[in-house]
Amino acid sequence: MADETSAKHRAPRRRDWRFLFRSDSLALNFTATVAGPRPRPDGKDRLSEPALLDRWFCEAQLPPLAHEVSERGLEKAKALRESIFRVAVSGLKTTTVSPDDVEHINSAARAGVAPLRLGPDGQSAIPPDESTLDELLGLIARDAIDVFSGPYRDRIRKCGSPKCQVLFVDRSRAGNRRWCAMSPCGDQASARAYRKRKKATVQEQL
Ligand SMILES: [Zn+2]
Repeated sequence: MADETSAKHRAPRRRDWRFLFRSDSLALNFTATVAGPRPRPDGKDRLSEPALLDRWFCEAQLPPLAHEVSERGLEKAKALRESIFRVAVSGLKTTTVSPDDVEHINSAARAGVAPLRLGPDGQSAIPPDESTLDELLGLIARDAIDVFSGPYRDRIRKCGSPKCQVLFVDRSRAGNRRWCAMSPCGDQASARAYRKRKKATVQEQL
């Protein structure tokens, strides 16, 4: 009988992954929870269970949730995420925005996180203790409205890497950001361009 160690050894190793926060926008970071080289609907949905949405909120440094996320809550969050994604992509492709998606984002944006309170010393700010799922989704929806309607609305871009589907807001002064991140996307593109140039040089010499 195989011992536990060898069984573990034979088990397929899950590829290590982490949530991506490269978009310079809370709302677009949320859309990046569908990852991988292929676009939706074939991308890998990282929010495969409610606990992972909890983890995303935590990594996004949002206020802690009062209750664990339910399956229904997860579906609600994903529905908002896809509405935000579709509106963002419609801007890239200059296609018509769905009124349902706009209403969905506006409706979610109505729930806001409780504001900061002034501490008893009159100088410190006290953040809200805990938030509901709707309140956190409201923060994401309001960020989407800020991005879609604000000065950077024409600076929403898709990462230039063909292997990366991340959308980001180009807040660079020159407005010429091409990658969600230099590492790995920009570096891989530089390496590909180098290999291509080298191959062309070799062929010229033959
Ligand atoms: Zn990228």
